[in-house]
Amino acid sequence: MPRQTFVSTAVVLVLALASSAQGAPEAAAVTVIRAGTLIDGKSSAQRRDQVIVVSGNRIVSVGDAAAAKVPEGAKIIDLSGAVVMPGLVDSHTHIFLQGEDPAEGGYDIQLLKYGIAFRAARATVAVRRALEQGFTTIRDVETEGAGYGDVGIKEAIEAGYIPGPRMFVVTRAISTTGGYPLEGYAPEVDVPKGAQIVDGPVEARKAAREQLDHGADWIKVYMTHRSWVDGKGNLVSQPTLTLDEIRAIVDEAHGWGKKVACHAYNGVGLQRALDGGCDSIEHGLELTDANVAQMIKQGTWYCPTLSVYYDHWAAESTPDGQRDRKRAAVHGPSFRRALQAGVKIVFGTDVGGFSWTEPIAREFGRMIEFGMSPMAAIQSATSKPAEMLDMSGQIGVVAPGAFADIVATRGDPLRDVQALEQVGFVMKDGKVFRDAFH
Ligand SMILES: [Zn+2]
Repeated sequence: MPRQTFVSTAVVLVLALASSAQGAPEAAAVTVIRAGTLIDGKSSAQRRDQVIVVSGNRIVSVGDAAAAKVPEGAKIIDLSGAVVMPGLVDSHTHIFLQGEDPAEGGYDIQLLKYGIAFRAARATVAVRRALEQGFTTIRDVETEGAGYGDVGIKEAIEAGYIPGPRMFVVTRAISTTGGYPLEGYAPEVDVPKGAQIVDGPVEARKAAREQLDHGADWIKVYMTHRSWVDGKGNLVSQPTLTLDEIRAIVDEAHGWGKKVACHAYNGVGLQRALDGGCDSIEHGLELTDANVAQMIKQGTWYCPTLSVYYDHWAAESTPDGQRDRKRAAVHGPSFRRALQAGVKIVFGTDVGGFSWTEPIAREFGRMIEFGMSPMAAIQSATSKPAEMLDMSGQIGVVAPGAFADIVATRGDPLRDVQALEQVGFVMKDGKVFRDAFH
């Protein structure tokens, strides 16, 4: 049939074009990186004087410089004066938020006054900021009223239109009536909500299906919302979804082979998140010993986002100010408890909740302050999230077979973790995005 003939001719043509475009100088696609020190993201020991061979977008070999054969015609990148690591992973970002100053309208203005194109333009800057700081992968945990914009940004990055990290996106996120801003407006006025609002397990499952259908890699659920300090001085958090509702979402997501991230501070909502089978607890401000034991038993991930709770405290004499101080006060001990018990911890920052002009890597310092070793902190941003994202061996490691996502710092982050705020070299997918060393 003529139509078939046409199709097969077209296929042959496309293949021929593809091979002439890529195939030409095979050797030119090979890059050799000389690493003075290598922290591979997985092993606990660092190695000196290594040679990493990259072909196309993959690492093909890693070995001692003394024994290494440099392929002929390879491009050489000399990082022998630097510490080389896998590209970093931030497991909790918001590219559609910009750390809005309350004096400039705060969170609400984003939803009320800024159109989606304006917000997408700013998200384009945000993903570039992540990449230039060495974060070659992010799990972006909701668009805050910008619908499925995260899927669009991810597609634009993958198609090469804009620079940015590998993205795992959750789209709109899910909460309940009374469980998410915008709020505080006259009841007669319909205002948009920053998350998809559901009531009842049927709506909950339907929202998960819609989001998965439109490209969500993960589902994000708010299991607690407001928090305050009660008369006895305890932090209390309003629970949102019921156990039936969260179970419907988790069941649906797991059926699609996807996971569920649950924003949960403490108390009833956190307990429902764990009983409902959440895959990761976001923030987890106040984890009890029983919570921690359940997380270990169920293999639940913990993404603490410590630093953001030290920003912008309200005045000490106000209820909000007391809450802000209490949140930070219980968070550190929770982190220690989880760490000591062996809960699987991933690095996450909530950047977007604070400005993208702040260094994302400041979170490492807090993790170390609360008892994590610098090497474990680096692994919480490399091989650990790779495991959580079902990308072990692909990202978060400098090893043969992995994507060539490689970063480097001048200073030694094992001695001074602030070195990670000064990433000077960034390669993603085999392409050098930034090189301040040459
Ligand atoms: Zn967040």
